[in-house]
Amino acid sequence: MVLFVAVLGLFIGSFLNVCIHRIPVKESIMWPGSHCPRCGKAIKPWDNIPVVSYLILRGRCRSCSEPISLRYPVVELLSGLLAVSLLYRFGPGVGFIFYYLWACALLVITFIDLDHQIIPDRLSLGGIVVGLLAVPWLAVEGYKDALMGLALGGGLLLAIIYGYYLITKKQGMGGGDVKLLGMIGVFIGWQGVLFTVFMASLMGTCIGIPWVYFHKATLKAAIPFGPFLSLGAFIYVLWGSQMISWYFGLMG
Ligand SMILES: [Zn+2]
Repeated sequence: MVLFVAVLGLFIGSFLNVCIHRIPVKESIMWPGSHCPRCGKAIKPWDNIPVVSYLILRGRCRSCSEPISLRYPVVELLSGLLAVSLLYRFGPGVGFIFYYLWACALLVITFIDLDHQIIPDRLSLGGIVVGLLAVPWLAVEGYKDALMGLALGGGLLLAIIYGYYLITKKQGMGGGDVKLLGMIGVFIGWQGVLFTVFMASLMGTCIGIPWVYFHKATLKAAIPFGPFLSLGAFIYVLWGSQMISWYFGLMG
């Protein structure tokens, strides 16, 4: 079972690579099949096996030897890891499938945000719709919790963006982050949203400050927030309740 889910996750990861490439430039994700970005040769099915083909081809296109980005096998591996860790968390069932789809959306959003500093509405708003349909199978306390997560996710970030604007007269995060956190809220409820914002800010600070220092960039321009929100939300799904009870154990 675990092996099957892991391999399926790797193959889905291969499809997620296509999504990461094509969604932001508004190309079809179904057609045509994968092809080399340099020589345009279609990639044969046996050269398109997740991770394995990359190793066999030693990271180069079979026809023109153009180096293939290491990101392809990395995304495939991450997709497999997400699938296996969620299987352990939820067990086989409908809940697992919905959370895996959600994690795939977060993975695609992460890399699109890193590349283009945008979060496509198709993924964030589409995720809100799918999440609301899936509520009966999710680990939230019914529709009240999901809707509070949506409202708090959207509202909290809007408040942060507005507050940041009042203080600095600059726009920090974009509307894409607001819709993303709303989408996250549907899947993990209002407590999950608080946890996610806390974790994302913590990671953003730890990674962002050295980044800005070494790249002499401004915090605003340098770092998309979507990847941190996605990672924070995923950590909540896997370990959030343990981390929260551990924390309150320390306090009390
Ligand atoms: Zn090529």
